[in-house]
Amino acid sequence: MLALTPAILLRVVRRPEPVKKLPRHRRVAIRDAIAELMKVAEPTAFSLEAPSRHGLRVALIFEGWSWGQADAEAALIVLSALHMAGARRPSWQMGQPEYCQPGVLPPPPRETCARCAAPLPEGARRYCSKVCYQAAAIDRNRRADAEERNAKEKVYRIAWSKRQPARLCPSCNRSFQPKRAAQKYCCDTCRHDARRLARRTVPRLCEAD
Ligand SMILES: [Zn+2]
Ligand SMILES: [Zn+2]
Repeated sequence: MLALTPAILLRVVRRPEPVKKLPRHRRVAIRDAIAELMKVAEPTAFSLEAPSRHGLRVALIFEGWSWGQADAEAALIVLSALHMAGARRPSWQMGQPEYCQPGVLPPPPRETCARCAAPLPEGARRYCSKVCYQAAAIDRNRRADAEERNAKEKVYRIAWSKRQPARLCPSCNRSFQPKRAAQKYCCDTCRHDARRLARRTVPRLCEAD
């Protein structure tokens, strides 16, 4: 018991981590970019809530923040992005499987399998067999995983991009915020223009053959 005392005491007196904040301009830029993604998210803006928080947290941790500080800041930014995107949380009632909008009748019971379209056997409500049920679940999970990974990646890149100094596009001479480390031109049009120009100025050595 005595041997445990110092550790317990240490845990009790440990100070809470100081709150860390991003500089305002970066915070606003990240929030606006996430809100833009959320406005077009399917089925609702909330589908990006968790992946955005994750992506942003990871980006901050890579900048040297602690997990707790990064998560707290990411949570606040994602919350205000949701607010900007006009997302409103559904009520408990709306979350129930039997919920229908007021005045809308529930859909009639299915007659065919939702996966293979075979006629549904007696007592089955959505899938004709265990095989179809499991295959549909695997498809659904795979799709959801891919979407989530994609969203995390996007928000991570947004946070990364807002930290970079602006670059000058050699094609149009405008300054831009890079989205990738190797990005040289502000947009695809400028990149294509530059490539076309380079091709035109390279002498064609093989013309004599
Ligand atoms: Zn089926
Ligand atoms: Zn350009």
